[in-house]
Amino acid sequence: MRIDLLIEQEMKYSRKQVKKALLNKKVVVNNKIINDGSFNVEGRLHRVEVDGEEIKVPKHSYYQLNKPKGVITANKDKSQKTIIDLINENKRDLFSVGRLDKNTTGLILLTDDGKLGYYLTQKFFEVTKEYVVTVNRVLTKELIELFDYGIIFDDGYQCKKAKLEIIDDYNAKVIISEGKRHQIKKMFLSVGYYVCKLHRTRIGNLKLDETLKQGSYRKLNKSEIKKLYNIYEGE
Ligand code: URA
Repeated sequence: MRIDLLIEQEMKYSRKQVKKALLNKKVVVNNKIINDGSFNVEGRLHRVEVDGEEIKVPKHSYYQLNKPKGVITANKDKSQKTIIDLINENKRDLFSVGRLDKNTTGLILLTDDGKLGYYLTQKFFEVTKEYVVTVNRVLTKELIELFDYGIIFDDGYQCKKAKLEIIDDYNAKVIISEGKRHQIKKMFLSVGYYVCKLHRTRIGNLKLDETLKQGSYRKLNKSEIKKLYNIYEGE
């Protein structure tokens, strides 16, 4: 959460007092003076002191989920099962950063950290995402160059450069750094392939935990949360 709001809440300061504390170098995060009120803090990563007094920083929830087929990326739906339905813990305020199609499997990041989540959602389209793709006919080496150049959709839109690594005749690894609706399926359709299976294995520096069965989830560990914050802090 924003440090200025936290100080307001925890210290019962007015907005003016918060600004003054920041300006007068009274706010210290992990032993570093912070003067930007919009600085985002998280209980597992940051120790906050105001005028020498330590204050409690809330801990957010961060999960990675291995999405199964047939489940939609939404919070609620009248008739279809959603990714949030798969979570058995307190799921208040939980939302997914980016989305997967109903039949796509693999990594979904869920959080209730509004500020970080919003930032990552905005940034999501630039962050690299890795998928394993199964297609309907034999993959050829020429595709590597086409993906590298930037696939052109029927409507003339040229995709950003993408990395294609052929695993075997029908399977490939694809890394993209954009996220239009049905991006991968459309990229392959543009070059005459139909995607039979799609599985996401990585978002930025967060890798899918391969020990997670489809439909299962787990909390992110501290080092994974730190990596997300590194994207946020531009490291
Ligand atoms: N590209 C797609 O076509 N579908 C997804 O679910 C993700 C990326």
